[in-house]
Amino acid sequence: MEDTLAYAHAQDQADELRDYRSQFYFPSNGGRERIYFCGNSLGLQPKNAASKVTRVMESWKEYAVEGYMKGDAPWMTYGSSFKKPLSAIIGCLEPEVSVMNSLTVNLHLLLCSFYRPSEGRRKMIIEAGAFPSDQYAAETQVRFHGLDPAEEIIEVSPRKGENCIREEDILAAIQEAGPQLSLILLGGVSYYTGQFFNLERITRAAHAVGALAGYDLAHAVGNVPLRLHDWQVDFAVWCSYKYLNGGPGALGGAYIHERFSLDPHFFRLGGWGGSNAQTRFQMLKEFIPEPGTDGWNLSVAQALVLAGLEASLELFDAAGMDRLRAKSIRLTGYLEYLLGLIPGDRFSIITPGDPDARGAQLSLLFAENGAAIQAALAQADIVVDYREPGVIRVSPAPLYNSFSDVYHLCKTIMENL
Ligand SMILES: *Cc1c(COP(=O)(O)O)cnc(C)c1O
Repeated sequence: MEDTLAYAHAQDQADELRDYRSQFYFPSNGGRERIYFCGNSLGLQPKNAASKVTRVMESWKEYAVEGYMKGDAPWMTYGSSFKKPLSAIIGCLEPEVSVMNSLTVNLHLLLCSFYRPSEGRRKMIIEAGAFPSDQYAAETQVRFHGLDPAEEIIEVSPRKGENCIREEDILAAIQEAGPQLSLILLGGVSYYTGQFFNLERITRAAHAVGALAGYDLAHAVGNVPLRLHDWQVDFAVWCSYKYLNGGPGALGGAYIHERFSLDPHFFRLGGWGGSNAQTRFQMLKEFIPEPGTDGWNLSVAQALVLAGLEASLELFDAAGMDRLRAKSIRLTGYLEYLLGLIPGDRFSIITPGDPDARGAQLSLLFAENGAAIQAALAQADIVVDYREPGVIRVSPAPLYNSFSDVYHLCKTIMENL
């Protein structure tokens, strides 16, 4: 790798995915396009997203209630069309995935099914400093069962002086909790450090002690390769507005392994939206769930908030996760290389150096004035975000970021240190 704009340009020229960039709107400042590295927070708008939303609006205008059954994408079955592209992204069977609600709502719904503490087995392992939603959901679920979070929640922390959690420490915590462990709930990719956990190994360890494994994939979906079904992951939830570019308020997703989701007797909170499609309009007294994760859906089709996601999933389908991941590894590797050339020790990269243990994000921990550096970058029309305490997160998304973007960012950081 080389520290020159010419090298970055040459990489962009040789990038087989380079044309996807033109499928997105970039934010602008008085007509000047800004460089965007916040795809881990809110993905950019695909240019064909508005037409998908408009199509729903047109159907509503033209067909009114008959829009559920009529038009190019009848709302009643619209959600099903997302199963194929999504199952390729998260690595599962189509019935195992469903788009519904928002991430935290889905997390609570699935914890109602999967966290069923019994006399001996009622502990839950989470990561210390997990995204607040995970912490609050875990805590309130424990309380919901009349238990004490201080007793039942086990937090795994990074070792003193370290930022990432060692996998061996997670495995040891599972071992130690043993027969008392109900489930482990982890962020697949840490929102703060960008660490990507080995979900297969952690799931296997949980199962070995008779516990379950569920993951919050907010920062993993559309970012890193996932094979949830083969890894025997029990359940997972995610939102669709980060790497998936579904837009603010886009419907989230849920995955439940078929050994649970195809079992009509497996407990879930019921609603009409999750009742069996064959008998739904018989308005039965008895709740017969739709087979698969759709059987956890509560409500009628949410077409408007699905539409934005359709546009982006078409792009994911065309680009393919394998090619996206291959570019992502090179792009983040280039970012790491250039950051490494910046003299001094004003910041350190706390994301793992091993490409297998991270996705598209590098987290830069500043001993001081990280927020000021972020503000200086914003002045220079480079969008990154800042998270307390002290971290600038930079996320080169392979669908629309370029090697030249990465080059400009690093030059600008250097000029502002
Ligand atoms: C972004 C994010 C969320 C957001 O959940 P919402 O229900 O959409 O607010 C949850 N968990 C993690 C780890 C996140 O990064």
